[in-house]
Amino acid sequence: MSIEVVLLGTGNPLPDAGRAGAATLVRAGDRAFLFDAGRGVCMRLAAAGMLPMMLDAVILTHLHSDHICDLNDVVTTHWVMSPQPRTLRVLGPVGTRQVIDGMLAMLALDVGYRRAHHADLEWDPQLEVAEVGPGVVFDEGGVRVVAAPSDHRPVEPTLAFRVEHGGRAVVIAGDSVPCAGLDELCAGADIYVQTVLREDLVALVPAPRFRDTIDYHSTVEQAARTAERAGVSTLVLTHQIPTPAPGSADEWVGIASRVFGGAIVFAEDLTRVATASD
Ligand SMILES: [Zn+2]
Ligand SMILES: [Zn+2]
Repeated sequence: MSIEVVLLGTGNPLPDAGRAGAATLVRAGDRAFLFDAGRGVCMRLAAAGMLPMMLDAVILTHLHSDHICDLNDVVTTHWVMSPQPRTLRVLGPVGTRQVIDGMLAMLALDVGYRRAHHADLEWDPQLEVAEVGPGVVFDEGGVRVVAAPSDHRPVEPTLAFRVEHGGRAVVIAGDSVPCAGLDELCAGADIYVQTVLREDLVALVPAPRFRDTIDYHSTVEQAARTAERAGVSTLVLTHQIPTPAPGSADEWVGIASRVFGGAIVFAEDLTRVATASD
């Protein structure tokens, strides 16, 4: 009855040879969810033994490009690999429909080419898009997903999610500073996955556009404080900003461990974390 989390992509918006963009796979019971769909997501899904057509839903925390830029690849791959018409569910904050409409317009020529070439491909990509807000957004097969507002302003609205199954809970926070919504979702959770930033390092970068990122991400210390306050068992640090220097993981974990007494995982691509099973 455990919930498994695979950090598919742990990169930030700046390209890195070893880190794909923001994307996290959560498996609970016989359900599988993809949270965000950043750079390289289909390659990392394959590495985790998953294909887009095996997903029950794609769930978006927010519509920043680094979290959605390969969503079109998920949609196309889901479509061309499905032997029968199959619907891909996409849940996300208000604005998701606009993104999907634009994406489908961008894919329209390709859809036409493939349908003209494959006689048995008699349907367009089937998408079921739902713009969701705080509350229960999925409840099937003993798996519940609950959303709460995060705080990543000026990006609005943004959502964090809690996946519950068999008395266990995992929180996918996305990009956010500490806030009431995160505290609520994290209360008593087994695993809390937070995108993080090192203010001490980012403040040294001479580019103002880079330093701007400080005010809308949780620092490592803030994430650890949220984890401590909420009594979570395991804190996962991902989407690290700036891109961590090789061998610096202990430093990042050390900062969090000053204020959080639980387990701390410094995520690399394809790091797996699972709750205990009952
Ligand atoms: Zn963001
Ligand atoms: Zn981001």
